Amino acid sequence: MSENKKIEKIVGVKGMNDILPADAPLWELFENTVHTVLKSYGFQQIRTPIVEPTGLFARGLGAVTDIVEKEMYSFTDSMNGDELTLRPEATAGVVRSAIEHNLTYEGPKRLWYQGPMFRHEKPQRGRYRQFHQIGAEALGFTGPDIDAELIMMCQRLWDDLGLDNIKLELNSIGDAAERNAHRADLIAYFEQHADLLDAEAQRRLHSNPLRILDTKNPTMQAMVNAAPKLLDYLGAESLAHFEGVQKILRHNAIPFTINPRLVRGMDYYNRTVFEWVTDALGSQGTVCAGGRYDTLVEMFGGKATPSCGFAMGIERLLELMKASGEKFAANQCDVYIVHQGEAAQMQAFVVSERLRDAGLDVVLHCASLAGPGSFKSQMKRADASGAGYAIIIGDDEIANDTAIVKSLRAEDMENNQAAVPFDTVAEYLVDQIVGGDDEHDHSEHVHYHH
Ligand code: ATP
Ligand code: MG
Repeated sequence: MSENKKIEKIVGVKGMNDILPADAPLWELFENTVHTVLKSYGFQQIRTPIVEPTGLFARGLGAVTDIVEKEMYSFTDSMNGDELTLRPEATAGVVRSAIEHNLTYEGPKRLWYQGPMFRHEKPQRGRYRQFHQIGAEALGFTGPDIDAELIMMCQRLWDDLGLDNIKLELNSIGDAAERNAHRADLIAYFEQHADLLDAEAQRRLHSNPLRILDTKNPTMQAMVNAAPKLLDYLGAESLAHFEGVQKILRHNAIPFTINPRLVRGMDYYNRTVFEWVTDALGSQGTVCAGGRYDTLVEMFGGKATPSCGFAMGIERLLELMKASGEKFAANQCDVYIVHQGEAAQMQAFVVSERLRDAGLDVVLHCASLAGPGSFKSQMKRADASGAGYAIIIGDDEIANDTAIVKSLRAEDMENNQAAVPFDTVAEYLVDQIVGGDDEHDHSEHVHYHH
């Protein structure tokens, strides 16, 4: 701006984060690892809209839940008056889509999704208003086998990511009838201890007493620990299902602990529920959570489709990866091209395209507010890019029909360079970069230095 007016900056929405280039390699590594694992179990991706009708969540998640009571970004579409909500989770949308498109018509389906979720929470470490999940939904499966498979898939992922401080907590919350029997005793128990209930618990006493078990209020812990346990109310079928899950996990040496207080936040769960927790992240220690939801599809008007799924919080898992002390960084490119003069610039364009044809990642120096830049300042950019090589083209190189290829990593930088004809510079560099390195997978050109 030429006039010196002070222009107010607009900043991003509180609790909604920018994911900056410095973190991109970590996200990429994480996502690639998850995708590989999901694929290895035959899961297929589904992408549903970020916005859904508000009624979908109100009906699916249950009216007396944290999310529906106070966390949803809901609004009226000013164009047509539709009531809409930014999705706080993806299971409801995936199930809606599966019904709408008859996805389980030919049999059960293993699905996965990924993307941003929105919840109006108090922002803090590990808790944001826009955050990201990857989740899996196995639709149309009845037995404990799929529950165990989902859990084992998570375990494989933690192993592949090198995360050894995530523990599995498991519970069964039975079916609706079993929960109702338990619920009556639970309300009676809480009424006996009414003096200990906080405001939220009192509000939930008759609407959703099970959720009181989930309280984080320290002064209620002892009382809640001694409350009637839902596990004691399970009938033969629910118990057999729960036993079945445990049997497969034990057979595959997946460690777990049974946490009778684990109930999960959404109403749609039944039978198996599980959480993967870590003590390395402070109070936001649940990195992945899921369970069985045998009646949700029917609640949305579909045919009976017993199902099971989970969702993991990407931000919390990335925190864990960072906490492991490893550094995740990626070079911007393999080769940075510096040049001076118009003829050199024209040649630099041609060379850069040839290098890309050969599969290399190339940054061609371009002018900025600082001007085209001296060789010296361009070389600084080349160093900062993390490239292994710079190509230098000036008047002399144009005259000689050669480029100077300079190694940016060698000890003796002064001498570690070669004059290479423009025609063969791509071959020369591919040879330098890929040639001596058997393990370098040239087709997937991502270099993480851990
Ligand atoms: P919490 O008890 O921490 O509020 P939740 O039960 O609401 O979690 P789910 O709805 O089960 O969480 O979501 C699955 C996972 O998504 C969580 O285990 C967590 O890793 C992540 N997650 C949930 N809410 C947030 C948030 N606001 N910010 C970041 N990650 C979140
Ligand atoms: Mg929550």
